[in-house]
Amino acid sequence: MLRSRPSVRLVACLTALVVLLVAGLATAQAQNFGRNKVVYDDFDFERLQTEHFDVYYYPPMEPAAQDAARMAERWYTRLSQVFQHEFTDRTPIILYADDTDFQQTNVIGGFIGEGTGGVTEGGRQRLIMPLTGSYDETDRILGHEMVHVFQYDLWKENPRAFQLGALPLWFIEGTAEYLSQGRTDPHTAMWMRDALRNEDVPTTRQLTREQNRYFPYRYGQALMAYIGGNWGDQTLGILYRRAGYAGLETAFQEVLGVTGDELSTAWAEALRSAYGSQMTDRTALGSVEVRVPVLGSREFGLVSFPYLPTELVAFADGGVAWSSDAPPVFEFTRESEERIPVFSTGLSARVNVLGFLVVELMGVYPFQRPDKGWHFDFQISPGW
Ligand SMILES: [Zn+2]
Repeated sequence: MLRSRPSVRLVACLTALVVLLVAGLATAQAQNFGRNKVVYDDFDFERLQTEHFDVYYYPPMEPAAQDAARMAERWYTRLSQVFQHEFTDRTPIILYADDTDFQQTNVIGGFIGEGTGGVTEGGRQRLIMPLTGSYDETDRILGHEMVHVFQYDLWKENPRAFQLGALPLWFIEGTAEYLSQGRTDPHTAMWMRDALRNEDVPTTRQLTREQNRYFPYRYGQALMAYIGGNWGDQTLGILYRRAGYAGLETAFQEVLGVTGDELSTAWAEALRSAYGSQMTDRTALGSVEVRVPVLGSREFGLVSFPYLPTELVAFADGGVAWSSDAPPVFEFTRESEERIPVFSTGLSARVNVLGFLVVELMGVYPFQRPDKGWHFDFQISPGW
């Protein structure tokens, strides 16, 4: 369950971002919405000042707030280099002790659903988040939201000319995900392997147009990781600025020197060479089994001996796995580099002891592993 939590959080963060992008226009509506929220506790916030942040927290969480403040400054150092930008004002970070407190927050005028990781408020530019039980996750969420603070801050330099609302979510969120989590995210890797398997690696245009089909966070992270890896992380900052003023397609051409389509093709190619060889597309398995009740009751056993029912089983299994890169080669050899079918055969004796315990003795002979020969297994399990 823990694994899936960040994605739930991020869906909510996505929603929050969309809301906040239009928040400038829809403040009245947001306040309306907020009125329905029940606030159970009033928090007495205290403030901790660091070089670039005012960190608000309430007393029981002071040590954790100090850690978070250090993390925030660390992110600031890294991200101010990526974006080549320094904040002019001190940015407030409002910390809640946990999810429950966070959901009751009256700092933001909207409704915070369960699973929202954090929120970066565009208008007033505050970063609001709960501390999580895990130091790493708090750090990741802080990093993700901090990227948004930089994105907003750059937009605020010239909000009329900078078309923040025109930038696709995969680009905004993908940048935040990549810069806060890096390129080796097993969750994203799983999505990309899936996309390759289905031969469905999207182009940048598809990512922009079909957000429901291509989850912006995962695909965005993978594509931004590809750009960061090939052009350097600082390119992401340059790309963001240029895209805000000139549009994403122009930014690709001017900053990366490729069109969006060329970028898409190169990215798909890179994914294929990164994951292609590890992938097994298809498998076929088959087995035959012959069961002979040797000892048993008069009706079911070859030999009537109902006190220790015994069954002899002869079996043979076969299977082959292949992928589009490595098609199967149908030959029966015992050793091969190709994807050949593998077979094994064996014999097992199952003895039912006292009617409730099954003792099984099994010998298996795998044909494609000549070095192994026969191997034996002994198992005791309840039931027949
Ligand atoms: Zn986000």
